[in-house]
Amino acid sequence: MAKQPTGSKTKPSTRRRRSAAKDTVGTNPPPTPQTTESPISSETASAAPVPQERPTTQSRLEPEQPEQPEQPEQPEQPEQPEQPEQPEQPEQPEASPVVAQPPAREAPAPYPESEPPPPSAPARPGLFVVHVTPELATVAKVGGLADVVFGLSRELAIRGNHVEIVLPKYASMRYDQIYDLHEVHRDLWVPWYDGAIHCSVYFGFVHDRKCFFIEPHSGDDFFNRPAIYGYPDDVLRYAFFSRAAIEFLWQSGRHPDVIHCHDWQTALLPVYLYEFYQRLGMTHPRVCLTIHNFAHQGVVDGELLRATGLQHPERFHHHDRLGDPRYPGMLNLLKGGIVYSNFVTTVSPRYAFETKDQGQGFGLEGVLHAHQIKYGGVVNGIDYDLWNPEIDRHIPARYGIETIETKYDDKRALRQRLMLADNEKAIVAFIGRLDPQKGLELVRHAIFYTLERGAQFVLLGSSPDPAINADFWGLKRMLNDSPDCHLEIGFDEELAHLIYAGADMMLVPSRFEPCGLTQMIALRYGTIPVVRAVGGLADTVFDKDHAPRPLHERNGYVFNDYDHAGLESALGRAIACYHDYPGDFRALMHNAMRTDYSWNRPGQDYLNIYDYIRNG
Ligand code: ADP
Repeated sequence: MAKQPTGSKTKPSTRRRRSAAKDTVGTNPPPTPQTTESPISSETASAAPVPQERPTTQSRLEPEQPEQPEQPEQPEQPEQPEQPEQPEQPEQPEASPVVAQPPAREAPAPYPESEPPPPSAPARPGLFVVHVTPELATVAKVGGLADVVFGLSRELAIRGNHVEIVLPKYASMRYDQIYDLHEVHRDLWVPWYDGAIHCSVYFGFVHDRKCFFIEPHSGDDFFNRPAIYGYPDDVLRYAFFSRAAIEFLWQSGRHPDVIHCHDWQTALLPVYLYEFYQRLGMTHPRVCLTIHNFAHQGVVDGELLRATGLQHPERFHHHDRLGDPRYPGMLNLLKGGIVYSNFVTTVSPRYAFETKDQGQGFGLEGVLHAHQIKYGGVVNGIDYDLWNPEIDRHIPARYGIETIETKYDDKRALRQRLMLADNEKAIVAFIGRLDPQKGLELVRHAIFYTLERGAQFVLLGSSPDPAINADFWGLKRMLNDSPDCHLEIGFDEELAHLIYAGADMMLVPSRFEPCGLTQMIALRYGTIPVVRAVGGLADTVFDKDHAPRPLHERNGYVFNDYDHAGLESALGRAIACYHDYPGDFRALMHNAMRTDYSWNRPGQDYLNIYDYIRNG
């Protein structure tokens, strides 16, 4: 075959089978699980943190399940008067209750010659799981999503599953963190508009995780840019990536048991699977979509259909498929992901409730109700290989719960590094994206309030929005002479580790917070979280004075109202406890460090979900 010149959008003739698929109206919506069993074992579910105010509607993942109807696709569907037709069910292993397992799949031969040692003997047949993701710590990280894929993929592998990760090959990646990167697929042609874009696929290990990086060669330069996000064509960039990812799986003969997608960036993948690839023979994989933040949905006009070959606009613009509920005539990728995936999770039970029932779904509340049978929340875990003060390479003094005194060496080191005064004061810290979601007015207020209360403040954050950055630069200049305050505007992974170890309190005053990792990382470092009771913050932090929990489970300070008084009520108590009742504060630090937010429990939850959709 004569190769197309790089950048050509002309489809090679061998791709005729694809255009046949494109021309056919898809009739295959996703299979819905047929079992009425909860995907979460009752043991796991009952051990999960319970929201302080219980949702009125049970999530799929909560312990007490209402009796489910035999046909799960029958709940009231305000968004979907027209039910998608039943799919042809691929051959399924016979469903049996609770512990039914699909047969172990033989994973395709991995590309590298030398495999890392196999994980310890699994107690259950392994699954072949492919994560398709726009971010992965430690190579391409913007927020918590990167940490989640990093941590979950490792946990699944430890449990004896074959796990691979597919992500774009960004020019801006940390290539020093990728081991043995090499090209494994030269001729991946990915349909796009009326032609196809030529891509290469690379393989490499990111801290033992098996990763495939897709590099398109076209004038669009989709990923050959200085930043990961922030471009006017972002939606089309990731619509392309999702197509490239599934095309790669198909062409390389990979038929995973589960394809796990993340956020709107990869939400089109199940649409492609059920509209195109299923009819080509890709009937085996099931799709789990995890939504890390409903604020970003990938809303785009009809150009998407022309680019992707999802023809028949009336079909895809329809409100039971991709039609955006808020902007008439627009398409919504995240909504498509919800409709077409076999299971949809978000990153905490509280956020699942808030998005479905409390108006926090950014317009997708009705869609979540229509699909509630396959929707639930799983609190993220923390990768304790990466975030652990006992082994952390980025901090000068390592410590554990028995050697907690040593934490104060890190506090001194942090002060030295940021040129803060060395005194008896507490250090209050904030680490996060400078996004309105994070409660920036309250962060600003907290800086002045902390100084006024005789404590120190450290901030590490950045924003892609120049106006927000400029605002914080102004604040930094204003406070430049203060020996008790340092604002670091930028992204600095190493400094983040030192702040987690050296600070006494970690402030997370978010307007909304799907899960939040900073409070969970802080807990591990004995740094007391001061948080607003929303989303995952409410599921993971329990107020020292007011939580309806045994004393030894209380691990921080919590406030409800998004205003100055609310913030002060929690931060003021934390600072007062630090100064006036150091014994109590120390006990709280022990509680914090004992809290287990490893991937152990969420890893099992996700495996239960995978089994649930495989056996459905
Ligand atoms: P989100 O996903 O909304 O950004 P999370 O709390 O879930 O928030 O995850 C944030 C992650 O990004 C944490 O690991 C945090 O330490 C890290 N992080 C955020 N901002 C910065 C920064 N400026 N420098 C270093 N790490 C950062």
